[in-house]
Amino acid sequence: MKDGIRTVRVELGERSYDVIVGHGASRELAALLPPMARRAAIVTQPRIPRSFDTGLPTETFTIGSGEEHKSLATIAELSEGFAAAGITRNDVIIGAGGGMVTDVAGFAAASWHRGTAVVHVSTTLLGMIDAAIGGKTGVNLQAGKNLVGAFWQPNGVICDLDALATLPPREMRCGLGEMAKYHFLTGDDLLAMELVDRVATCVQIKADIVASDEREGGRRALLNYGHTLAHALEIESHFDLAHGEAVAIGLIYAAHLAHVLGRIDAHRVENHYRVVGGSYELETRLPDTDPAELIALMARDKKAIDGLTFVLDGPGGVEIVPDVEPEAVREALTVMAAHVP
Ligand code: NAD
Repeated sequence: MKDGIRTVRVELGERSYDVIVGHGASRELAALLPPMARRAAIVTQPRIPRSFDTGLPTETFTIGSGEEHKSLATIAELSEGFAAAGITRNDVIIGAGGGMVTDVAGFAAASWHRGTAVVHVSTTLLGMIDAAIGGKTGVNLQAGKNLVGAFWQPNGVICDLDALATLPPREMRCGLGEMAKYHFLTGDDLLAMELVDRVATCVQIKADIVASDEREGGRRALLNYGHTLAHALEIESHFDLAHGEAVAIGLIYAAHLAHVLGRIDAHRVENHYRVVGGSYELETRLPDTDPAELIALMARDKKAIDGLTFVLDGPGGVEIVPDVEPEAVREALTVMAAHVP
């Protein structure tokens, strides 16, 4: 291990790869590129700091910022660009940016010549601890987020903590929302750690879950802790509420729901407030919304195969709980709205 640099291995048999975390981790990029690559296609956005050198002839493709650009139209534009630049299936695509860029670059790579190597250089906290790892790629449709995509594991991931210096505070908060989620999945006191260990520990938690359930047949769904209400709040607010902000509120709601269902006691609910609101300093209050609409949106959640499905804390830790009664879901919303932490 180089000084201040952590390497986390995502164990997936022949698709295993390293995630390099630390200040200046971008210097390790060239070592992650496939040896046969002769050219690199970098997919990025304006204002993304770029502090790496591929060591290869490189073509850069800049895509728009914002979820509306996470689209099939962007994939088509990129693919035309790869064709014009002569990128072959032996070359490498590099996704340099936050989760949006790595989702798009990953999907473009999955489909370019039916599968071309991709390496991610993640530049947001959320991307480093979540989106860049695990091989889920995709784009949005009018009908919903991430509806078209593929599982396509990267050849490696760089999490250069220097990139966080330019990250806007709101984007940092979004990462913290997901980090608070990891806190409850393992009980690790992440905030007591130095930044490099904090990020590397989150990467390790995600890597372990992905290694045990690459295609989300079961355990990987635990990563959706706090997300059922979060997705509903995002949609209800027309995405004024950012994802990580919504996850923070969703974690608190999941605690209330677990309490209503008798799975955890009141102390554990307060513990959620202490961690999310106190330690991570995130908003925990339910926005003023119509409970009936939230319940309808939650029933449409991707996880919900039968009825209302949640990821909930309990005596055995966090687990998937299907068929939650709408009455309990409503009661937890009422209790949360009235709660004074
Ligand atoms: P993002 O990628 O949209 O980035 C947010 C903004 O920050 C963008 O404008 C971007 O250009 C800018 N930015 C990025 N890095 C910067 C830096 N270092 N300095 C200054 N500005 C910078 O947001 P995100 O939160 O990283 O990712 C959200 C996306 O990730 C969503 O599309 C979500 O669906 C996806 N996601 C995917 C997974 C997965 O497993 N594939 C998991 C979670 C989220």
